[in-house]
Amino acid sequence: MSAQIIDGKAFAARLRARIGEQVVPFRAAAGRAPGLAVVLVGEDPASAVYVRSKGKATRAAGMESFEHRLPADVGQDALLALIDTLNADPAVDGILVQLPLPAQIDERAVTTRIDPDKDVDGFHPVNAGRLATGIDGFVPCTPYGCLMLLKDVLGDLSGLDAVVIGRSNIVGKPMAQLLIGESCTVTVAHSRTRDLASVVARADIVVAAVGRPELVRGEWLKPGACVIDVGINRTETGLVGDVDFAGAMSVAGAVTPVPGGVGPMTIACLLRNTLLSAQRREGLPVDE
Ligand code: NDP
Repeated sequence: MSAQIIDGKAFAARLRARIGEQVVPFRAAAGRAPGLAVVLVGEDPASAVYVRSKGKATRAAGMESFEHRLPADVGQDALLALIDTLNADPAVDGILVQLPLPAQIDERAVTTRIDPDKDVDGFHPVNAGRLATGIDGFVPCTPYGCLMLLKDVLGDLSGLDAVVIGRSNIVGKPMAQLLIGESCTVTVAHSRTRDLASVVARADIVVAAVGRPELVRGEWLKPGACVIDVGINRTETGLVGDVDFAGAMSVAGAVTPVPGGVGPMTIACLLRNTLLSAQRREGLPVDE
């Protein structure tokens, strides 16, 4: 048996195209394009690549991209002042500060300074609280993209056993909240979990967001499980996920590849959140 390979790249391309179509009536009604401001501090090459591709995708969807590059030694006050300016700018619907930030900057101070109603990354505690309590806000892009893929493959998730491996604020915790919202029975595993293999063995859905190459073995999986691999690990043999892809392919029902699975969904969901913010701020109907 060979599992279905979940084509996140194709799904994300369709999603981006649909958002581009939805931007057209927005521009006509609002007399402006939705705007996303991206702030990059320093010269980290991986972050620079992410920022470039976010800008490109934003413009391709017919939105405005405002890019702000600050030197690696910028002070916290200067960064917070830029965020205040962006919070007050009516042309800016979404603000994203590319992480990680240099050591002299307190990441939490930055995250909490962004207006929660422009927080298209969904990292502000207000948006985490909204997600946890079922109030409309912004859902972090990567877990939201994972949920879209899961629903596309499985349809209704209600009653399924889901295991999320990883409990970070940006992936694991919001992923678990989203799956609870879909009426899954959710287990969150982390570095202190005893016998991860047996936890994974009972799951219909496995979301791996760990950052350890091929930690999740194919033989751990329940036959037919749907496996979403969030991990991006650079190894000597290239980019690999948190899941042993070859092993998973012979046991699972469906698996995301790395690259080409979850990664492309993250940017597509960022565009979706930006359009959502623009529609809310203009009092226009929101596209689902
Ligand atoms: P973090 O490092 O913040 O969190 C990793 C989590 O994995 C922690 O909760 C940690 O547990 C847990 N963990 C570590 N080792 C083990 C282990 N041996 N067994 C079980 N759990 C373990 O990472 P992120 O959540 O930010 O990212 C996770 C991965 O996803 C990374 O590879 C990252 O590059 C990738 N990523 C991909 C994105 C995309 O667009 N595709 C976007 C964001 C991230 P504990 O809490 O106990 O320390």
